[in-house]
Amino acid sequence: KANMPSLDNYWMPFTANRQFKKSPRLLVSAEGMHYTADDGRQVLDGTAGLWCVNAGHGRRQITSAVERQLATLDFAPSFQMGHPVAFEFAERLAAIAPGGPEAKLDRVFYTGSGSESVDTALKIAIAYQRAIGQGTRTRVIGRERGYHGVGFGGISVGGLVNNRRVFPLLPGADHMRHTHDPARNAFSRGLPEHGADLADDLERMVALHGAETIAAVIVEPVAGSTGVLVPPKGYLERLRDIATRHGILLIFDEVITGFGRLGTPFATDYFGVIPDLVTTAKGLTNGAIPMGAVFAKRDVYDALMTGPEAAIELFHGYTYSGHPAAAAAGLATLDIYESEGLLTRGADLAQEWEDAIFTLKDAPNVIDIRTIGLVAGIELSSRPGAVGARAYDVFVDAFKKGLLIRVTGDVIALSPPLIIEREQIGEIVSVLGDAIKRAE
Ligand code: PMP
Repeated sequence: KANMPSLDNYWMPFTANRQFKKSPRLLVSAEGMHYTADDGRQVLDGTAGLWCVNAGHGRRQITSAVERQLATLDFAPSFQMGHPVAFEFAERLAAIAPGGPEAKLDRVFYTGSGSESVDTALKIAIAYQRAIGQGTRTRVIGRERGYHGVGFGGISVGGLVNNRRVFPLLPGADHMRHTHDPARNAFSRGLPEHGADLADDLERMVALHGAETIAAVIVEPVAGSTGVLVPPKGYLERLRDIATRHGILLIFDEVITGFGRLGTPFATDYFGVIPDLVTTAKGLTNGAIPMGAVFAKRDVYDALMTGPEAAIELFHGYTYSGHPAAAAAGLATLDIYESEGLLTRGADLAQEWEDAIFTLKDAPNVIDIRTIGLVAGIELSSRPGAVGARAYDVFVDAFKKGLLIRVTGDVIALSPPLIIEREQIGEIVSVLGDAIKRAE
C-alpha cells in the first residue's frame, strides 16, 4: 500500500462512493475468476466486474488482439470512412444477432457504452417513426424500476428517482409500473406466474397519451441494476403485442442480459420475444475496452437508409464508434464465447446455481430470492429508516472474506463470469450465507 495514490481528485458523487473513500477497496489485478486487492488478497468475482466480464478476467486472446490492433491501426475516423475490423465484427455479430436469422435484427450501430446505446436506440426509434410518416411520435416510455444508464435519454426512461428530480427529462417521457412485488414473488422459482397483466400498463400509457405520440417503449427483459427483477410469464409477449398493435417500437435493453448471461446468447432468445431494437455493451468486449452496439431490425434500418423520407440529414455517431481496439477486443471476445460455448453455458449451470442460491432462503432477513440463468437477486428486508444499509454491510463483509458482490438497495445481485466452476458456486453461497448472518 506504500504507493497508494491520493483519493481526492477522482470522484463520483453517490453515497456509497463517499463511504468507500473512508475505507478504500482497491483492485490492482485480475485473472480468471479472481481479482487481487491492493493488500494482495484474492477476491472471487461474483459480479463479473459490473456484469461485463463474462469470459473471466485477463484473457490473453483479448489483450493480445487489442495490442496487435493498436500497433497496426490505433484509430480510424468513423465518419465518411471505416476500417475492416469494425465491419468484420459487425458481420460476426449479425451471425449471432438476437432472435436468430428470422428476427433480422442484424444491422449494427456501434457506440462507446450502454448509455450511448440507449440514447442511440431512442434516437433511431424516433427517427424511424418520422421516416415512415409518423413524425408526431416522439414520446418514449420506460418502466418505473428500469435502469438505462445515466445519459439524458437513459434517465428519462429509467427509474433513477433523484436524477429524475434534479434534471430535465426528454419531453413526454413516462413510466409503466414495475414488474416485481416481493410479497407475491417470494421464493418462487422460475418465472413468476402472476402479473402478465402488468404489461397492460402500456395500454394505459396509450390511453393516457395517445398512440400517435409514442415512438417507443424500452425495457430490460430482466431488470438488473434495480434488483434483478424477473418478468412474470407472458409479460414480454404482451408488451410486444400491445406495442405492435399501436405502432410503437419495442426496445430491449440487453446491456446486462446480452452475451450469455441468461444461458442464451440474448434474453431475446431466452424469452422468444422479438423487439425492434436491442441495446448492448458490457459483455460485447468482455469489459476489456469500452464499447456498445445497437442491433436494429432490417425494416427499421431500411426506412432510415433507403425509404422515401430516409433520414439522410440525421447526424448520429461517435468519435469512438467502431473503434479499432474495441472491435478487435470484440472479435477476440466472440472467439472465446464461441470456442468455449459460453453463450449457452449458463443454461447448463442454471439449475445448480438456482439450487445453491435457494439454500440461502432461511438466512436471516432474506425476504425474496430470484434467479434466472447465471443471475441472482437476494432481497433482504431493510433496517427501519436505512434502506440499503443491511445489504451494504453484507457487501463490505463479503469483500473482506474474499468475495465481490453487488448490492442495490437491499438486494444482493450476483452475476459471476460464465466460466465459473461448480465449487466456486458453493464458495459464493458459503461466504454470502455467513455475511448475511453477521449483518443482522
Ligand atoms: N442499460 C442497462 C440495462 C445497464 O445495466 C447499464 C449499466 N449497468 C446501462 C444501460 C448503462 O451502461 P453504461 O454504464 O455502460 O453507460
